Amino acid sequence: MNLPFVINLPTCLLNSVKMKILKFGGTSVGSAERMKNLVGLIAGDAPRIVVLSAMSGTTNNLLEIANALYQKDNDKASSLIGALEKKYNTVLTELYSTAASLEKGKELVKNHFEFLRSFTLDMFTANEEKAILAQGELLSTAMVHFYLEEINIDSVFLPALNFMRIDENEEPDMVFIEENLKAELKNYPGKKLFITQGYICRNAFGEIDNLKRGGSDYTATLIGAALSCEEIQIWTDIDGMHNNDPRIVDKTFPVTEMSFDEAAELAYFGAKILHPTCVLPAQKRKVPVRLLNTMQPLAKGTVITDKAPTDRITAVAAKDDIIAINIKSGRMLLAYGFLRSVFEVFERYKTPIDMITTSEVAVSLTIDNAKNLDAIVKELQEFCTVSAEKDKSIICIVGSFTAEKQGYAFRIFDALKNIPIKMISYGGSEHNVSVLVDTKDKKAALMSLNKGLFNL
Ligand code: ADP
Ligand code: ASP
Ligand code: MG
Repeated sequence: MNLPFVINLPTCLLNSVKMKILKFGGTSVGSAERMKNLVGLIAGDAPRIVVLSAMSGTTNNLLEIANALYQKDNDKASSLIGALEKKYNTVLTELYSTAASLEKGKELVKNHFEFLRSFTLDMFTANEEKAILAQGELLSTAMVHFYLEEINIDSVFLPALNFMRIDENEEPDMVFIEENLKAELKNYPGKKLFITQGYICRNAFGEIDNLKRGGSDYTATLIGAALSCEEIQIWTDIDGMHNNDPRIVDKTFPVTEMSFDEAAELAYFGAKILHPTCVLPAQKRKVPVRLLNTMQPLAKGTVITDKAPTDRITAVAAKDDIIAINIKSGRMLLAYGFLRSVFEVFERYKTPIDMITTSEVAVSLTIDNAKNLDAIVKELQEFCTVSAEKDKSIICIVGSFTAEKQGYAFRIFDALKNIPIKMISYGGSEHNVSVLVDTKDKKAALMSLNKGLFNL
């Protein structure tokens, strides 16, 4: 697994806090009813920071608005903004019972939508797009905060833009986050309940930025790690990490316990329930992560810790939009240093490699970032024959294959016997066997693995 982020947590700042982090995703704040429902889930004696996503659909809507503005289609942008504003105004009337709260909510929505409308008149760049994308989380957190106020639950509104920051490499700036979050919290001695935004942050230039799609999970684990807190809870619309992708395969089941390594592999290789790199901060500080279902709060869910049952196949996941790059060169035969020159090209273009296999005169590898593909291929062609193939998927079989490894390869490849396989990666990690297939064969591969590995 190739990790795009390096998280550097200085041990001198380690200072365990008995605090819980509770993150609620888009569906969990997706309607007035769901927002009201949060009250029962966030109750408790221990201090807690509640991290909220935007209401489901909002970030996509904001992206559509930004795209219309990029295309200078102001009419389309205005009509999308109008439709979204209408939706928010309806939610307000369902959420609040008092005239005072409704008034505050209306003022809030009016301000955020005036901000959105201001862009229809101005120049539009990536910075403005990021400011637009931040509005969903800013709205949902303020709406929930006002609701808690209305029902007399004391909570502190903690602006994520004051402490959540990425550095010039777009990696979380852990020192900044830890210092500034702790400083913020110090302003509220005795307070127990904090509400903050997931996903949004500032970048190294102080501009509004974000932690990429699905990034609220990452906010939660970064906060949990920064405070070395007791537990991070990710509340979503499903009862934990399932053994297979429930969007693609019918019969799946929740895995009750898994290790950080297993969860990190699954998240990175396509299990959408977790942001691709969000497990790493929690793993670094050994903070347990619990995946829970807002619709079934009593369901066990999944607990992710540094311990997990060994000698088992835990789950499978798939990651799309993979490009396979096949490299051939006579110079590789009996030579050393060849792979280094290949890797240097990818390094120059900051493009992580996921899978790699080699033979005597060839090396095949995969990337998921096509941004610099042409330039990479051109540079590689200076010293080898190169071809690139798109529309591939990595199927990742994750387990704790730490005991005797006998039999796993047989079971996996027996299950996949009817699927054309382009590449295989086995043995690189004790937790992961990956195969590359054409995306058109992904569904069949996941279904076959469900049958062959889990008898489903
Ligand atoms: P949220 O908005 O709460 O962050 P997401 O939509 O990002 O929720 O993640 C939850 C979804 O992840 C589930 O509804 C499910 O469809 C999808 N998913 C994909 N793979 C898995 C898996 N292995 N286990 C559980 N859910 C998964
Ligand atoms: N709202 C953001 C998104 O839709 C972040 C998140 O929900 O985690 O990607
Ligand atoms: Mg998510």
